[in-house]
Amino acid sequence: MAAGEEDGCAAEPEQEPAAEEPRSFKDLGVTDVLCEACDQLGWKVPTKIQIEAIPVALQGRDVIGLAETGSGKTGAFALPILQALLETPQRLFALVLTPTRELAFQISEQFEALGSSIGVQSTVIVGGIDTMSQSLALAKKPHVIIATPGRLVDHLENTKGFNLRALKFLVMDEADRILNMDFETEVDKILKVIPRDRKTFLFSATMTKKVQKLQRAALKNPVKCAVSSKYQTVEKLQQYYIFIPSKFKDSYLVYILNELAGNSFMIFCSTCNNTQRTALLLRNLGFTAIPLHGQMSQNKRLGSLNKFKAKARSILLATDVASRGLDIPHVDVVINFDIPTHSKDYIHRVGRTARAGRSGKSITFVTQYDVELFQRIEHLIGKKLPAFPMQEEEVMMLTERVAEAQRFARMELREQGDKKRSRNDDDDTEEAIGVRNKVAGGKKKKRKAF
Ligand code: AMP
Repeated sequence: MAAGEEDGCAAEPEQEPAAEEPRSFKDLGVTDVLCEACDQLGWKVPTKIQIEAIPVALQGRDVIGLAETGSGKTGAFALPILQALLETPQRLFALVLTPTRELAFQISEQFEALGSSIGVQSTVIVGGIDTMSQSLALAKKPHVIIATPGRLVDHLENTKGFNLRALKFLVMDEADRILNMDFETEVDKILKVIPRDRKTFLFSATMTKKVQKLQRAALKNPVKCAVSSKYQTVEKLQQYYIFIPSKFKDSYLVYILNELAGNSFMIFCSTCNNTQRTALLLRNLGFTAIPLHGQMSQNKRLGSLNKFKAKARSILLATDVASRGLDIPHVDVVINFDIPTHSKDYIHRVGRTARAGRSGKSITFVTQYDVELFQRIEHLIGKKLPAFPMQEEEVMMLTERVAEAQRFARMELREQGDKKRSRNDDDDTEEAIGVRNKVAGGKKKKRKAF
């Protein structure tokens, strides 16, 4: 698909391009106590989307923010909301709708970090977590609710005493994705039970037809803040591909992980099963790898993410569930182990690195079956990617060890499947592997539990 195909005509006024020189948060109109909070988070100067969106939001305008992943968009909507909250303190003040659970937790963390000195309370309302404890949290009337649409509607319909009739701010974050995930009905329901007299911020990576429809239904005379054209990858990202036979993918992966040792990696796989298998394989080879996919319980997913964030694990293997919106600032290398079937997912995946001005690398595995998909990606990003330099002979020297680790991984995967069927439990990579043999250097060693 040609870039811009879905982009509709934007009737709303576009912002003047931002000034060249980075300005301070104070210059944008942010109040002292929040400037200090930014400073404590290490946010020295505002990002482009913050420069564009914060002043208009502080003037009380609705905002449409078109911003790439990692642009600092959470700060762009959180700071004006917190400032308004400081001026007129009120419970159940703001609602942030977001497509995924992980993203909801991340947004909440940023609200807490920015708002801790002013005593802001926020609650995350997402699926996969006990509704009773959520009802109790809602009964305490937090200032900010960060929610996925489905579970919020559940509470609006079933939790006694909970309503959003006094709401002052609505944020729809990653609106394109909310709508693509078929949350349209839920969003409509939410819009019907919140006041019309409110401020609305809509953030989206792309301006699709559905997003435009939502914009017309939910925003009043908004200002559009676009900081980059669609489908662009950030400048500090070095993108590579490797063209390899499908049957040696695992060996090439191990080679690259060794070559770039010392970095943190995010590896994308196409299915939950392959994510799990590859995590097991790598752990059998002594790498600190951890999986994150949709067949894991919410607790395990958050556990994985936290271990990776805390740098206790250097490799996070994920499906596209995790490809967008995750705030993991220290990812150095993104590996597309399985090429994404939708080219747009490529942008979202590689957007996990080179965030907020840092540099990063991405390497996409292209096998004999993936050539067409890869060409589509190159077309979408508008450039030809260079091949990642490799010593093929060194890769081939790894194949024996890798084959042994593959056998173990398959066995463990089968055992986990059996266990899951009998316990109805989910992912247990860490426990399973912790007591199994390590296949480093071709030797089997008993491994201590982690
Ligand atoms: P987001 O696009 O909101 O997910 O933010 C991506 C990352 O950028 C997060 O880790 C933020 O903490 C960080 N960030 C946001 N604003 C700034 C800023 N002004 N300076 C440096 N880092 C920032």
